[in-house]
Amino acid sequence: ATHLVWLRNDLRINDNSALWAACRQRDANVVALFIATPQQWRQHDMSPRQADYIWHSLQLLQQALAAKGIVLHYYQCADFSASVDYLAAFCREQQVDALFYNYQYEFNERERDAATERRLTQQGVTVQGFDDSVLLPPGSVRTGSQKMYKVFTPFSKAYLQRLRISLPECLPAPEPRSQTLPQTLPALAPFDYPRQAFDHQLFPPGEAAALQRLRAFCRQPVMSYPEQRDLPALDGTSRLSVCLATGTLSPRQCLHRLLHEQPQTLEQGRARVWLNELIWRDFYRHLLVAFPALCKNQPFMTWTKQVAWQDNPHHFTAWQQGKTGYPIVDAAMRQMNRTGWMHNRLRMITASFLVKDLQINWQLGERYFMSMLIDGDLAANNGGWQWAASTGTDAAPYFRIFNPTTQGERFDKQGEFIRRWLPELAKVPDSAIHDPHGWAKKNHQRLDYPSPIVEHKAAREKTLAIFAAARKAS
Ligand code: FAD
Repeated sequence: ATHLVWLRNDLRINDNSALWAACRQRDANVVALFIATPQQWRQHDMSPRQADYIWHSLQLLQQALAAKGIVLHYYQCADFSASVDYLAAFCREQQVDALFYNYQYEFNERERDAATERRLTQQGVTVQGFDDSVLLPPGSVRTGSQKMYKVFTPFSKAYLQRLRISLPECLPAPEPRSQTLPQTLPALAPFDYPRQAFDHQLFPPGEAAALQRLRAFCRQPVMSYPEQRDLPALDGTSRLSVCLATGTLSPRQCLHRLLHEQPQTLEQGRARVWLNELIWRDFYRHLLVAFPALCKNQPFMTWTKQVAWQDNPHHFTAWQQGKTGYPIVDAAMRQMNRTGWMHNRLRMITASFLVKDLQINWQLGERYFMSMLIDGDLAANNGGWQWAASTGTDAAPYFRIFNPTTQGERFDKQGEFIRRWLPELAKVPDSAIHDPHGWAKKNHQRLDYPSPIVEHKAAREKTLAIFAAARKAS
């Protein structure tokens, strides 16, 4: 029998449910396939840095699979619809008996997978899908009345309870197979998609590097995570998001490694704080399945469609470029523009600033983040934006508005992070780093740094008014 593993955002050989299942039958001929779909990626605003990370990780995956006796084939076509046609042709040509793949939960991806199942089943190919990019399958953690939770805290409580009862299995890599490999592996031709180099020290591609970082993080840093995770000047978080978004790492590997190093975590202890973030990740994935409209540019709270967003390209550009005149916002945007990653606290601050200080539609921010982030992930990004914009499930209420200056003072007191990204503030003393123009005026200094593009207090009032009006209108 020939078994095909269709790899998508599960670029690893360890704890890969589809790969494991395909390899169960010892004498099956197992082949793997990755299909690049640049046109579709463009529609989904995939960042060129993520494309580059995938590209590098694929090379490593091809070698890792070859070491197990499995060939990774590669093909490029325009979009999802073309990929279904190609899969059908590939299965015919290679006489595939069974296809194995791991689910993706976004709407277009699910449509593609349903079309694939229909097409291949007609062709006589058995198709098996697996819940793999989550700790527990969407739909498996519900309220007493069998509904999806809309509030995170009870969801996470129920989640932990489920995990205490039984842990999801973490599968090893398959055993090496006695298949003969071709002399040369199929060429992985460069994607027809813009690729942008990223710092391999910060985000080493591939599964081995992801596992190494996970191990190191769970040994010690996870214990300081509760105090350090909100301080962008420190390297206090795992920086594993790109690995989880592209599947060079699975959340079950995170959970098992965490419990190996910190065995009491499900009951108590400091490492629970990090586990909670993994549960947030699952929460947003479960929500996508329960409410597919989230994938279609819809706010979760429909009344927020009435909010009269401002159309101000000048403000939007200033935000994108990190030139708003608010140091913490600008440093954060420049961190993302330059590295493809932004600290979580700063994602909250910059998203809040766009929506609540500039009254710009959160969907523009969501798209911009997606196009820049190396770890861009629809569920987490949409969830984060709808949280910040007060349009989502369990979102911040609209009248709770971050003050960008006090956020900066709280989380980057001395401006250590700000200074890294805003060299034009070098001469400003620590005590004035969050109000550089105030200092410059008092001291008759000239700064080559923009003045604040809006005044926070007035902006706040305006936001409260447009949200209140939308609520009233609905
Ligand atoms: P850690 O703090 O070490 O957390 C461990 C893992 O848990 C992360 O790698 C991530 O997979 C997950 N996680 C952590 N926080 C969250 C969260 N709030 N929601 C969902 N999952 C979480 N995360 C993405 O992976 N991709 C995105 O596109 C994305 N966009 C965001 C947009 C906004 C506006 C906000 C507020 C948050 C967004 N996040 C996104 C969530 C979070 O900011 C990042 O996951 C985190 O900063 C990644 O750094 P880390 O790997 O060091 O995280």
